Amino acid sequence: MDRRSFVKGAALTYAAISSGSTARAAELAHIKMPVANGEAAKPRKVPYKRIETEGAWGPLELFQMYTTLLEKNPFAHPGLASMWGTTGNRPGEGGGTGGNPIVRRLADMGEGRIRDMDASGIDLALTFLTAPGVQVFDAPTATSLAASTNDQLAEAIRKYPTRFAGLAAIAPQDPRAAAKELERATKTLGLKGAVVNSHTEGEYLDDPKFWEMFEAAEALNAPIYIHPREPGPQMLQPYLERGIERALWGFNVEVSLHTLALITTGVFDRFPNLKIVIGHGGEGIPYMLYRIDYWERRKKPFMPKLKMLPSDYMRRNIFITTSGLPWGPAIQFAQSVLGVDRVMYAMDYPYEFEIEEVTMTDDIPMSDADKKKLFQTNAETVFSL
Ligand code: MN
Repeated sequence: MDRRSFVKGAALTYAAISSGSTARAAELAHIKMPVANGEAAKPRKVPYKRIETEGAWGPLELFQMYTTLLEKNPFAHPGLASMWGTTGNRPGEGGGTGGNPIVRRLADMGEGRIRDMDASGIDLALTFLTAPGVQVFDAPTATSLAASTNDQLAEAIRKYPTRFAGLAAIAPQDPRAAAKELERATKTLGLKGAVVNSHTEGEYLDDPKFWEMFEAAEALNAPIYIHPREPGPQMLQPYLERGIERALWGFNVEVSLHTLALITTGVFDRFPNLKIVIGHGGEGIPYMLYRIDYWERRKKPFMPKLKMLPSDYMRRNIFITTSGLPWGPAIQFAQSVLGVDRVMYAMDYPYEFEIEEVTMTDDIPMSDADKKKLFQTNAETVFSL
């Protein structure tokens, strides 16, 4: 089945379910899952701006630093080896791209990226340092690297102010410095928040030692995007053994753990105005919300008592993006349980640069008003664009 007939099938299923015709829905339930197959596609003109809220970038120097770290001790960083070693997005020898199109696209914050955006119909790309960012280095290295890459990102945005916006890299290894860098990046460089590439050496942001970062984020009204990397060292091994530590499954396990850690330990009672953004359709959490609430009510007495249910924090403090998940049923389900104001379009450029997926998202049966929120206005509100 080609993409067009899939989309038509999905629209019919949706219409059948909405109109209560379960027999018709059952009849259509055999439709195949959509797969973007790289076929040439041209996005059409649409009555909304397409804002991509999860674009990755990184300078070649950073990738060279990953290589150096891995060469020094190949066994100390199995997760980094998976993402940036021989089986990952290996950069070239001596700091080049190695002919790797992902690495080339990550490093290009100029004409090449703009060309890809034009080809895929993206008007504005919110861009931030790719995973694991600065979080694998010692604190002084990570802190200065965060500042220098933020300067470079801000420079690219100054060159293309109508096409790029960005989030700052910060180094949780030194929470005080991270808080200061977030302030500098937003106030001086015009960046719109920060990215944290999930765990830092196996530590998560529910640990109070990181909370200076949340104090700053709340005071600056700066959202923090928790982006995946491989699962933390305490749970990495079973994923590595099966080769599923990255986007196939490990990433969403890692970030859903991180998000639920913030919720269940009461971080959002302490920081009621903190805004956290998670990608990839909310990393599986929306689908499990009923059960999470159910067991929160029955949790063990030693666990912190929350002011609200997890689903309430999901609807107050968390925003999600559709990166890597251009799939109507998932997007509409998230909108229906979190609210249409909390779901934002994202492409996951350049890791999942599929022009066809833009059109798949355009084609999801949804009111014009909701689609404009999905592609444009929610991102403008959340990231103050
Ligand atoms: Mn991603």
